[in-house]
Amino acid sequence: MLANMDKLTIVRIGNVISYSTLHEIGERLREGFEGIIRDVQLTHHESPVAGSIDAFLLTMILHSEFKGHTLGITDAELKTRDEDEFYHAVLGGKNPRNDVAVVSTRKLSPERIESAGDYQLLVDRTLKVCLHEVGHNMGLTDHGSYTFAADGQLCPMSKGERNRFGYQGYVRAVVDGRGDRFCNGCKRFLETVHAHHGSVH
Ligand SMILES: [Zn+2]
Ligand SMILES: [Zn+2]
Repeated sequence: MLANMDKLTIVRIGNVISYSTLHEIGERLREGFEGIIRDVQLTHHESPVAGSIDAFLLTMILHSEFKGHTLGITDAELKTRDEDEFYHAVLGGKNPRNDVAVVSTRKLSPERIESAGDYQLLVDRTLKVCLHEVGHNMGLTDHGSYTFAADGQLCPMSKGERNRFGYQGYVRAVVDGRGDRFCNGCKRFLETVHAHHGSVH
């Protein structure tokens, strides 16, 4: 794959995040992948109300509908076919056979969204998981260890161990610990693989 990655279509599925938030996430993704993602299109996918959806199936649906480099953000729970009950629900995933990544806000939400701060926390967490999954779309791999970016925060590709923390603890320890800038190793990879030839930025 890895074709035409400078354009990203972000598809909202469900209504937990507002359209203006979708726009904010798109802009911050463009900044995170500066010079690599240049064009972000926002759209909404109408789907029957579902409490949960198979992550792989959702990537197939989005692939057939939108083609190309796509990120789906859903408020439904994303399930995998993993036998291990603990890994049965995921924050995000990507289909290695196409260029579609999906992220679920379900486990990223604070217990209650009662203030602008609660909502912003959900937005920041969603962005960080989006950076991670789109990073996979770009060919980046997980950091098994904690790797820091120049801003002192964890690189979005830092993975950590979910089974050490449980979901709530994982989100607070790992997702909240990530920043929105990639580490030098990831940056070098992105520039080498995805640099636009003959352009200046
Ligand atoms: Zn990963
Ligand atoms: Zn990194």
